[in-house]
Amino acid sequence: MCETIAAISTAYGEGGIGIIRISGPEALGILRRVFVCKSNIASRRMAFGRIVDPDTAEVIDEVLAVYMKGPTTYTGEDVAEINCHGSVVSLRKALALVLRQGARMAEPGEFTKRAFLNGRMDLSQAEAVIDVIKAKADASYEAALSQMEGALSRRVREIRARILDVLVDLTVNIDYPDEDIEQLTYEKLLSDLEDVEDDVDTLLATAGAGRMIKEGIRVAIIGKPNVGKSSLMNCLLRQSRAIVTEIPGTTRDTIEEAVSIRNIPVYLIDTAGIRQTNDLVEMIGIERTKDAFNKADLIVVIVDASTPLTGEDRDILGRLSGRRSLVLLNKTDLGNAVTPRDIADISSNSDVIKTCLVAGEGVEEIEDKIEALVYGGQLSQKDSVMVNNVRHEELLRKAKQALSDASVITENGEALDIIEIDIREAYDYLGEIIGETVSDEVLDEVFSRFCLGK
Ligand code: GDP
Repeated sequence: MCETIAAISTAYGEGGIGIIRISGPEALGILRRVFVCKSNIASRRMAFGRIVDPDTAEVIDEVLAVYMKGPTTYTGEDVAEINCHGSVVSLRKALALVLRQGARMAEPGEFTKRAFLNGRMDLSQAEAVIDVIKAKADASYEAALSQMEGALSRRVREIRARILDVLVDLTVNIDYPDEDIEQLTYEKLLSDLEDVEDDVDTLLATAGAGRMIKEGIRVAIIGKPNVGKSSLMNCLLRQSRAIVTEIPGTTRDTIEEAVSIRNIPVYLIDTAGIRQTNDLVEMIGIERTKDAFNKADLIVVIVDASTPLTGEDRDILGRLSGRRSLVLLNKTDLGNAVTPRDIADISSNSDVIKTCLVAGEGVEEIEDKIEALVYGGQLSQKDSVMVNNVRHEELLRKAKQALSDASVITENGEALDIIEIDIREAYDYLGEIIGETVSDEVLDEVFSRFCLGK
């Protein structure tokens, strides 16, 4: 029989309330033993009472508790939730008591894993739960929520259904070649395969945007002293909302700021903050600057447009080839000694924007560029299903490869049962995304990324 699990489901630390969640066949039994209240415990009715240790009669907390009978619960099992005061002491004591009464400490993600195993959600929806919890900006949150509600699953199921149609056609033709059924021609098969591959491709094309929206983009700001780097940081910080949540890897000094620009998480790295030096060339040679430069999704170079380009400017502009970059001709209020043409002569692929950062001029355009970098200039992508998970991306790639292999051998006129193998493979890869064909190892890997209590 399935064990009953329990954990503190709210964030660790002080809070108005903190919730202990219990799931499994013993949920109600355990709640009854530790929760003393005047009324009877009825499913889905919150009751006020006390958590009392049945062995010592010690009162641990005054709480609200609810029991929810399965299977229409988050995990699909009987669930009990105890709303304690949000003190670490109260929560720890109450949890210890629940564990002594027979529950086992839940592993990270185990509630959601059970929800998946009990068919309450498919695997891609379960994976989105963690993204919803960890979302740093509105766009990340919306993408995760739409995945949790099944948008990606629906699209994957649609594609699988089409592959299944092809498989059925194939099977009928392989198994009953002499029957009076519509003959599957190689032309028809090829055209079906190409259509499905296109669908997989369309989904794959969203992966870049999906990843950036989920993880945020790194923007390195670089330029000689006094060109306006801090001014740019300030403009962007003023215009956008700072991300309040703690971001792993974000240092609390002035080097890196996490902001939400057009609802996209953006990490601004002011390279001047990394090391003050008057020599830009030397600065780029320094490890941390180099690192910021190398890892950035977008490099913003600022030059002072009121005076001609210097050797230092040229040196940095010369390093931009092959990188996505934006060059700001700043201080245009003081003169136009540098033109977009001058920049194009050194770095032909950089976008150029004229700015006057003291007055905040050009900042909108910079934000446009950041948004375009994420959505690839296609704003309609915002509304479509997006792939934002490396596992899904990998599986889509494999499915695409299998479909393309199937097309090649179809063109070569191979036997239908040989072609079928590749098509079936594609079908299975897509099935792994939603968890229909997935190994225990993959499941363990997926759910180990969750936080405790979810
Ligand atoms: P950083 O050393 O690159 O970070 O440069 P700062 O942002 O500190 O700017 C250096 C000086 O240039 C400050 O006095 C700013 O007010 C000024 N500055 C920045 N942008 C402009 C601009 O567009 N026009 C003018 N006239 N001054 C600017």
